[in-house]
Amino acid sequence: MIPQYFDWAATSPMSDRSLDIYVETAKTYRGNPSSLHKEGKDAARFLQQERDKTARLLGASPRQIVYTGGATESNAIVCNSLLWRRTPGRIIISAIEHDSILQYRHLFESKGFDVVFVPAPGGYVNPADIAGKLTGNTNMVCVMLVNNVLGTVQDINGIAYAIRTFQSTTGRPIHFHCDAVQGIGKMQVDVSSLDIDSASFSAHKFQGPRGTGILYQRGETLQPLSRGGGQELGLRAGTEHVAAIAAMNAALEETLSNLDDRLAHANVLRRVFEQELARFATISLISPPADGMGEMVPNICTIAVEGIPSEVFTRILFEKGFCVSSGSACSNNTPKKGATLLAACQVSPDKASSAIRISFGYDTTEDEIRMLAQTIGKESQTMGRLTRRR
Ligand code: PLP
Repeated sequence: MIPQYFDWAATSPMSDRSLDIYVETAKTYRGNPSSLHKEGKDAARFLQQERDKTARLLGASPRQIVYTGGATESNAIVCNSLLWRRTPGRIIISAIEHDSILQYRHLFESKGFDVVFVPAPGGYVNPADIAGKLTGNTNMVCVMLVNNVLGTVQDINGIAYAIRTFQSTTGRPIHFHCDAVQGIGKMQVDVSSLDIDSASFSAHKFQGPRGTGILYQRGETLQPLSRGGGQELGLRAGTEHVAAIAAMNAALEETLSNLDDRLAHANVLRRVFEQELARFATISLISPPADGMGEMVPNICTIAVEGIPSEVFTRILFEKGFCVSSGSACSNNTPKKGATLLAACQVSPDKASSAIRISFGYDTTEDEIRMLAQTIGKESQTMGRLTRRR
């Protein structure tokens, strides 16, 4: 039995077009873009065309695009850049950031930075809460675009407005970084319309290859993480993975050109999923409902299964033929992490410990999502009866 895949927020399957472009590019461009011979120059020219394409698709200019090994690395370049500050100041981080940001806390603190976390009740960071933490020595604010566990969309422009208003009173620039990984293919993302200084993206979240990503930088204020050949505007040394970059662009183009249809489909699936689950008292939504007040992406839905630990229920679902996640895929390696994130969203410990994340893609069908919801409902009832009997 091939399990049905409901873990697209962890990673998505490479699209056929992306795979084809990968193979074609790897065969066509054999040279290192830094080499001075014809093969190298051809690869460099091709890479520049790809950079122009990425920039056009994201609403940036080519000089603002740095190719990286994924969002973890993009986030690391931004966070490491701060460590070069002569006088450490304040760093404001939303408490629902991905671990690739959160885990900088100790390093920042060990270098004398004052790290402040902002909670996100219900999964939403309130711009007023960010405004309340801004100080004259604030160096950076980090707030993600879409939360990877709840699917909640953050008010990036509201937060930017709070930051820029404050900044205008002190005259000291504050770097606003946005981890935009989960936004691509689930909402319109145009970096030029967001008043941010940098953003991170990972190709495998939108059906491109793994280990490939983008760092968008608005100005040129960042410091390199790796040193060597000076590639990627000097910010990310190392020979560029040209085939993966082309494959990422192919996936990005495909995703964006079908965005409206895919979103409409995802909205239908989300409603079906919620309607089916509503028949079971053992299940409650942790993510905001589709018809609620808050902005959210339709394809990520975290639920609580009454009285059953996430790890147990994830295994049961796998045995029934469904791949889902307990919290985020990253928190699967460190189970307490998922619960910490949900605590920052003011989710009760009981619910947090039984959280299951379902995330689906453009080719998921209504029948598949209905079957998943019914299996979740029935299995939760059976498990509930068994635990009560003990
Ligand atoms: N940021 C967010 C919000 C994510 O969901 C992920 C991956 O799960 C990452 C960053 C890290 O991406 P990658 O593992 O591709 O580096």
